[in-house]
Amino acid sequence: MIDYNKIRVEISLDNLAANVRRFQGVCGAVIPVIKSDAYGHGLAEVARTLAGEGVTTLAVGYVNEAVKLRCLGWTGRILALLGPVDEADAAALWEHDILAAIANMDQFDRVAGAARTRGRLDICLKFDTGMRRLGFRPEGLAALVDALRANPALSPVMASTHLASADVPEQEANVSMQAGRFQSVLDGLEQAGYAVEANIANSAGAMAHKACRMDSMRLGIAMYGANPFHGTAWEERGRGLLQTMQVSAPVLHVHTLRQGEGVSYGWTHVAERDCEVAVIGVGYADNYSRSLSGRGFMNIKGRRVPILGRVCMQMTVVDVTGLMGEGLGDGPSPRPGVKPGDRAWLLGGPAPGTITPEDLAGWWGTIPYEAFCLLGMNPRSHGK
Ligand SMILES: *Cc1c(COP(=O)(O)O)cnc(C)c1O
Repeated sequence: MIDYNKIRVEISLDNLAANVRRFQGVCGAVIPVIKSDAYGHGLAEVARTLAGEGVTTLAVGYVNEAVKLRCLGWTGRILALLGPVDEADAAALWEHDILAAIANMDQFDRVAGAARTRGRLDICLKFDTGMRRLGFRPEGLAALVDALRANPALSPVMASTHLASADVPEQEANVSMQAGRFQSVLDGLEQAGYAVEANIANSAGAMAHKACRMDSMRLGIAMYGANPFHGTAWEERGRGLLQTMQVSAPVLHVHTLRQGEGVSYGWTHVAERDCEVAVIGVGYADNYSRSLSGRGFMNIKGRRVPILGRVCMQMTVVDVTGLMGEGLGDGPSPRPGVKPGDRAWLLGGPAPGTITPEDLAGWWGTIPYEAFCLLGMNPRSHGK
């Protein structure tokens, strides 16, 4: 958490709730994913909002995050997607009633060992159907079933797998293949007498692939208002989600950059003609990436203003010529002017220049997930 700066992150909990409602009823139970401080939106506030929407299970990554969520007063089910990493994590599963994903025999043995003294435990079995990151391979199911039979205190209540390319239309066949492998795992578990709640879909999986809407789904990025299909042939399927995060910083200084003058470190931008520039109090120390140098835009009073030259540690320069002086400018009239103390929006801001997560991530050279997690480390407020 950065706490000395002047950047402000505003979270709309109403928009987040509306995004969740879009999935409820379509996908069985919706399990919102609030790992990494709810993708930078705030674990406590987002959990409270989701409780109000009738959600009964929340997913986080590490067991530590699950413990934190429990200590905040969440009484529903908590799924820790990464499972126990050490003995302390394993103990916490009993102490705080956490459902952990178990993805390999080391994790299995760790909880099986703890179960000998602590007693019964519900677990989620995580399978690797193609992501090649975490999970038991389907070929190993027989050995896993043997281990379950030998450890009756461990009760598998959920089975999960994660899609590698649900948001890539060209890789639709991979999704079907992963779904097929997962179904064979579920059939094998059922034959062995284990009835589990099954989930495979993330946001994109649930939006694009009906076969992936199983007993439940794990909803992440779409809840935070980003379109997982942005820039693809399926872009239309992800439209209409509401923006949940807006970020602004103050104008520190406004001055004229004369023709031929360079601006900011290295003079990577040289003015072709006289222009008005504003220095904004935000930089890479606030997780506003230096890779936005000379590429990105901000939004001041509804107008898009381009970044000039390099993003600095705590400052970024933008061209506000179009907002200044007499006349109509190139946007809605009249020119509103810019002065120190005005706000510049890095994300969101007033129409028509509203900056979407996809816009910002595109200039940044990343995806909305990363922009949310990084910008969300700044001081935040939560409102409607
Ligand atoms: C983060 C995560 C999700 C959510 O994915 P989105 O693409 O954000 O919807 C779902 N499942 C697992 C295992 C995850 O780690």
